[in-house]
Amino acid sequence: MPATPICVNPQARENPTNTLSRTANVKILLIESDQTDAALISALLEKVFQGDADILPAGSVDEMDDALQGAQADVILLGLQSSDDPWRDALARLTEKQPQASVIVLATEDNDQLAGDVFDAGAVEYLLKGQLTIGWMRRAINYAIHRKHLFESTRKPLKQLVGIINLSADAIVSIDAEHCITLFNLAAEEMFGYTAFEVLGLPLGILLPEQYRAIHEEHIESFAKEASAARRMNERKELTGMRRNGEMFPAEISISKLLSPEGVVFTAIIRDITDRKRVYEQMHNMAMTDPLTGIANRRRFLDIVELELQRSRRYHHPLSLLLIDIDRFKDVNDTYGHAIGDQTLRSVTSAFHELMRDNDMVARIGGDEFVILLPETDEKFARILAQRLCDHIAKVDIPCNEEHIGITVCIGCGMVKDEDKSIEEALERADQAMLESKRMGRNRVL
Ligand code: GH3
Ligand code: MG
Repeated sequence: MPATPICVNPQARENPTNTLSRTANVKILLIESDQTDAALISALLEKVFQGDADILPAGSVDEMDDALQGAQADVILLGLQSSDDPWRDALARLTEKQPQASVIVLATEDNDQLAGDVFDAGAVEYLLKGQLTIGWMRRAINYAIHRKHLFESTRKPLKQLVGIINLSADAIVSIDAEHCITLFNLAAEEMFGYTAFEVLGLPLGILLPEQYRAIHEEHIESFAKEASAARRMNERKELTGMRRNGEMFPAEISISKLLSPEGVVFTAIIRDITDRKRVYEQMHNMAMTDPLTGIANRRRFLDIVELELQRSRRYHHPLSLLLIDIDRFKDVNDTYGHAIGDQTLRSVTSAFHELMRDNDMVARIGGDEFVILLPETDEKFARILAQRLCDHIAKVDIPCNEEHIGITVCIGCGMVKDEDKSIEEALERADQAMLESKRMGRNRVL
């Protein structure tokens, strides 16, 4: 039985002839090897269209190009002589060469199996040559032409959408109400290392490290329960994704929810921010590091000291600091040059590290001025350590051409007191002590 023609144009449904009036200049390729059948069908088509269609006859699929002369067919009528005709091959070639056209198969046998097979292979209609009437032909062609319009009007934007989704630099992943993956674009394939084919239908959890899966599920569930049917989560979140090889990476994600006929669909737009984070960390480190010596600068020192201060107050642990300034450093620059001055700053830094403990922290806070933070250290022990440092530095040899330069430092000790409002007060005491040691002749600890 032929399928019931479907009119997608409501106006056309009310007035079938109206539809055909829009089919002026419709191009119909008629592929029919039996000349008598071809003549009968052509005559019928002439009656249906009354001169408003180009009927292009071809004896076989091989003759199709000659018949079309470069034109694109709107409808193809493919005549079969029997179910043994190589119609599969013919249909495949027609769909490949004339994908825009709708194919109607004109058969000689009332064969349900064959009709089903030709539909599966892409034909839109199966008509029996012996039962062709003007009415059947009109409706079948009407349907075929509407199908073509429908195809163009739905497939074009759909194809465009698929193109946009696949060209997106961000990964786009949709999941259904069961949190199973329903869409996985090219960027997602690159980002996660799976092909769409491999992950479609699998739970979303496969893209997340195990420890974050439960919390992520909860997050989506609570978003699902929110009242609106379609909404974008008004925040971009940072999360950790997991590639196929187990590698984890930082990602920024925004999620939207849409209620479709199949149920709720969540779509995540995911951006791999590994590079951005790396650059940020590099810039952050640069902003916190003294480029000459590679140790912390004043900004980093103030960050860390704040934490140490909170810790020492909370647990009533002592906290001390040493302020160190190189003696007559200007003379080193003036006598040996700036490069040797720089080398001196690096040698002094290395010398500090030789005596510092794991938890101590050194920062360069001025030209030739350093501070060493001593957590868990009272004033008495800070002075012992300061004296050791002072003596140690006095023994450091800085090679300079044939000579060896020796330098000394002054160190002021400061212990953080309970009544100090900020670290600045301890720093000020250490600074005063350091300046006093300069006045007292340098190379000393106060
Ligand atoms: P004092 O014993 O009183 O500390 O005398 P000083 O000569 O060390 O005087 P001061 O500490 O005031 O001088 C610091 C000098 O450090 C001044 C500046 O020329 C030098 N300086 C600052 N930054 C750098 C640097 O990055 N490289 C070099 N080579 N020298 C620097
Ligand atoms: Mg100095």
